[in-house]
Amino acid sequence: MAKVLIVEDDATIRTGVLKALAGRGHVVVAAATALDGLKLAVAEAPDVVLLDLGLPDLDGREALRMLRAVSQVPVIVVTARRTEGEMVRALDAGADDYVVKPYGAEQIDARIRAVLRRTAPPEPVSLVVEADGVRIDPRARTATLDGAALELTPREYDLLHYLVARAGEVVTKRELLTEVWQVAYTAADKTVDVHLSWLRRKLGETAQEPRRIHTVRRVGVRFGRV
Ligand code: CA
Repeated sequence: MAKVLIVEDDATIRTGVLKALAGRGHVVVAAATALDGLKLAVAEAPDVVLLDLGLPDLDGREALRMLRAVSQVPVIVVTARRTEGEMVRALDAGADDYVVKPYGAEQIDARIRAVLRRTAPPEPVSLVVEADGVRIDPRARTATLDGAALELTPREYDLLHYLVARAGEVVTKRELLTEVWQVAYTAADKTVDVHLSWLRRKLGETAQEPRRIHTVRRVGVRFGRV
């Protein structure tokens, strides 16, 4: 689900919300003061912040302003009073939504999901890529070879997608590790080789008799018939 930062000085409320949200599958971090909250907002990079406007160390709007200076994270402000002026000022100061105490776990969970939906970047336009009989449909996460479905693991799928999208180009193993696995490259790492060999088997070829995945010695691989 989401990583939620709760900034709330009331220990009972803080613990209650923390447990309720964790029980709904969120990862929750909590702070009791505005300054600790600001630190956690930077250190933990939460997906959303629940910010109590009545904190002991800083005025709520000041806390919100400082948070906005260091992060674009969506913020739901929590107020104790249903005063329209306070909410409007909070929204003007950069809050994305507000709730009024007392609030239930269900309500706050719904608000969190709504804020995340609103602030999510638009889905990238997913384009089907195709080369040498292999067709990848990113929207359905399916791959076919000459029209027949390929049974791929998620990693094999990502690897094949990456290669087919760059058909004809030499792709280095370093690039595959950092882009497909998102880990740092070490020369001894055989992850890429192992997955390439599995992928080759599923495409009906071997490193010795390649058809689509060609080894470019000391550099990497290239997808596509020569
Ligand atoms: Ca408070």
